Amino acid sequence: MSTPFTPPGAPPQAAPILEATAIHKSFGDHHVLKGVSLSVQAGEVVTLIGASGSGKSTFLRCMNLLEMPEDGQLGVAGHSFAFKGASRAPKDAQLAALRANIGMVFQHFNLFPHMTVLQNIIEGPVQVQGKRPDEAKALAMTLLGKVGLAEKADQHPGRLSGGQKQRVAIARALAMQPAVMLFDEPTSALDPELVGEVLAVIRELAADGMTMVLVTHEMAFAAHVSDRIGFMRDGVMAEIGPAEDIMHRPKDPKLVSFLERFHAARQG
Ligand code: ADP
Ligand code: MG
Repeated sequence: MSTPFTPPGAPPQAAPILEATAIHKSFGDHHVLKGVSLSVQAGEVVTLIGASGSGKSTFLRCMNLLEMPEDGQLGVAGHSFAFKGASRAPKDAQLAALRANIGMVFQHFNLFPHMTVLQNIIEGPVQVQGKRPDEAKALAMTLLGKVGLAEKADQHPGRLSGGQKQRVAIARALAMQPAVMLFDEPTSALDPELVGEVLAVIRELAADGMTMVLVTHEMAFAAHVSDRIGFMRDGVMAEIGPAEDIMHRPKDPKLVSFLERFHAARQG
């Protein structure tokens, strides 16, 4: 067995907690993901940026197995699977093991309207994980405290603002105690004055060491919260690197013009 070279004094490189390798996904004859790879270390925050239609959501959905890749490999917290043709579709138990370690927050919150906030949060832990209701409730209350909504536990989602609903959706995903959280444009559906409270919760999760992959158009936020930023273009990871480098020293000409459009919009 060979040992990879580690420079003297460098911290030992741990195995990535999330590793997607050469993921391919087509819809009909539309080849949407053309071999996308991403490796995320525990505690790392990676933001994916790129034009609408470049495949960001499809890539996140593949990592959560909401979409089944046709080819490639996915590893999450020690569980891994190689996708190759329909005959090798993962078995239910494999799917469950991969999914159990990934939480996802969407643009639209999809809370159950007939359940209280607390019931929304304990539903997964009790029904899917078989947690005892009193344990699930205690965890839910801790998480509601974290997102600043402990006093809303017994309200129905219809009584909450969009920002509050999204914070409940984040608490609901965290209640499954995933190893990695994925966020797909979590603030895009919100009124501008409600964006900040959701970003603040995400920023706090990052500070707590939560491993996260985000898709967002909030560039200042992305620059601040991300360890690395990846730029997706036409179904490939065109460029990825430290947030500083991507924001200030972009190389891909399409990334340069993408960032210029954001700067222009902010000044305009
Ligand atoms: P992004 O999130 O970067 O805007 P998406 O991953 O949503 O991009 O979409 C990438 C491409 O895949 C788009 O052309 C989109 O129309 C297509 N696409 C996404 N989901 C589906 C689907 N369920 N069926 C058919 N085409 C899809
Ligand atoms: Mg999208």
